[in-house]
Amino acid sequence: MNAPPENDFPIAIIGAGFAGIGTAIQLKKAGIHSFTIFERAAEVGGTWRDNTYPGAACDVPSHAYSLSFEQSPNWSRRFAESGEIQDYLLSITDKWKLREHIRFEEEIVEARFDEDSGSWTLTTGKGGSFTARVVVACAGGLVNPAWPDIKGLQSFTGELFHTARWNHDYDLAGRRVAVIGTGASAVQVVPNIAREVEHLDVYQRTPAWVVPKRDKVYSERFKRLLTRFPILLHASRYLKYWLSELMGPVVFLDNERLSKLGEKGSLAHLEAQVQDPELRKKLKPDFQFGCKRILISDDYWASFERPNVELVTDPIEEIKSTGIQSKDGTFRPVDAIIVATGFDLGLASAPFPITGLGGRTIDDAWKEGAVAYKGMSVSGFPNWFILMGPNTGPGHTSVLVFTEAQIAHVLGAIKKIRGKGLRYVNVRQAVQDRYNEKLQDRMKHMVWHTGCNSWYLSPDGSNHSLYPGFAAEYVLRARRFRTRDYEIVR
Ligand code: NAP
Repeated sequence: MNAPPENDFPIAIIGAGFAGIGTAIQLKKAGIHSFTIFERAAEVGGTWRDNTYPGAACDVPSHAYSLSFEQSPNWSRRFAESGEIQDYLLSITDKWKLREHIRFEEEIVEARFDEDSGSWTLTTGKGGSFTARVVVACAGGLVNPAWPDIKGLQSFTGELFHTARWNHDYDLAGRRVAVIGTGASAVQVVPNIAREVEHLDVYQRTPAWVVPKRDKVYSERFKRLLTRFPILLHASRYLKYWLSELMGPVVFLDNERLSKLGEKGSLAHLEAQVQDPELRKKLKPDFQFGCKRILISDDYWASFERPNVELVTDPIEEIKSTGIQSKDGTFRPVDAIIVATGFDLGLASAPFPITGLGGRTIDDAWKEGAVAYKGMSVSGFPNWFILMGPNTGPGHTSVLVFTEAQIAHVLGAIKKIRGKGLRYVNVRQAVQDRYNEKLQDRMKHMVWHTGCNSWYLSPDGSNHSLYPGFAAEYVLRARRFRTRDYEIVR
């Protein structure tokens, strides 16, 4: 059967972050232009549009944290800052003329599958609707800020904001400031604001393992060399990727000897950064290396040696109108509170009602936790593909390695559905179940279940966020769309 005319095969991409933009570029490269991107914000970029706090940067080297099919020789440093990553995304969006495909400030609020036509009807927040033969959900997981449930938070009368919604109109210079949380965002914010505020209280509930960052600025000469000899850029990318894979088992395996290696390196870093033994004791984690996300920083721990920075380890009792009271009765007045408490994981439930075959909702399919085949396809929800879906997050390398494999898989599916004139493809329940049984079996050998509390785990202790293994392994399994795994309906 011949492929239908392009306009008869509309594709919807939800979200214009790294995954959505990468998918759109690969579709265009494949000669497929009948796609529309729905973006709820007014600009592309996702994480890198939203996280603009001082020091915001990616903790994966930029030569690896960029699309392999859109590499840039011009990264200014090893770990680019948020603004530079956002500029990269803007530049590739414009280069590939993606704006004409994007419907900004249009949030998808509902999706419903019609079995007879093999198409999805998407409803937007503005009340419009769109029919798509294939939906690629690229909405991301770490998107919506999580606010802590602390007594009196709303009674605070000073300035209050979340790291992912930084208030750039508020000048922190000369202010007394509190930061709540000590995760990947806080570790970047704290050293960067410590220099300008009058006083900084950092409220730590759980200390984190921190390793040196070893950032460096790339010289103009080096960038010219990469431009002239792109093979060097590829080599730099693959070197960084393979190094992270090599170190992977130290980060993700539940293996005391390997964890000790990581802990030794981190403790040496702590000793080098902090002289005060009491302070060191408070900053030293008491859980296994890798159980929570490992943080990288060359100046976070050293910030606590500054006379204007106090590490508060006593739990918060209550927030009052002018400051924070801890359980030991100490009240610390502040002008501003910065909440660095992370995100509500998008995988905890569907982002909006999604109804598949037989009227079944995805919330129903996921009542025991979010599951998908290779993180992308959910049985009963045909022609719907999730990027950065369940169990596709890495603890040790660039998430984009996973994303690119998913894009290749989705492209394979689209070519098959469109090329063969199929009505829909629906992953077989038995295939999905087998995949997830094996995955959860391997999960038992991972360090994330060794007793710490993190966003990796669902409230019931199960893990539906990370991939238990090497990225290379996932790529080999996921990048090809295997027809036999799917029920094919013509
Ligand atoms: P996070 O890792 O979830 O850290 C949240 C912090 O807030 C933790 O220290 C947590 O303490 C604390 N917290 C939460 N609720 C609290 C409460 N009620 N009272 C006191 N403390 C509370 O969030 P994040 O730092 O924003 O990072 C989230 C994820 O985003 C990262 O793991 C990473 O994947 C991504 N990220 C990446 C980069 C990058 O460079 N690539 C940068 C930033 C973020 P507990 O540990 O005790 O729960």
